[in-house]
Amino acid sequence: MEQKSIEPCPFCRDLNVLITRPVTGKIHKFNELPYQVMCTGCLGRGPMKDDVDEAIEVWNGINDIIEGYEYLSNSAMERSEWD
Ligand SMILES: [Zn+2]
Repeated sequence: MEQKSIEPCPFCRDLNVLITRPVTGKIHKFNELPYQVMCTGCLGRGPMKDDVDEAIEVWNGINDIIEGYEYLSNSAMERSEWD
């Protein structure tokens, strides 16, 4: 199965993002550790997921949420300039 592509960091736009398997404090075998996407630029992290594809999907989803938010705040600014 091919791995999904990871989008740049939604927080700082850094392209150096990698998949980590953080130690959660519970005792795990290595192959039971969750997956988490992490940015090496700002150390921003996505949520921990049991499935690598899911971790990437949620990470990529943060971009969509932020882009949507920027779009909304930009259009709000444009509107206020008309007043
Ligand atoms: Zn970052």
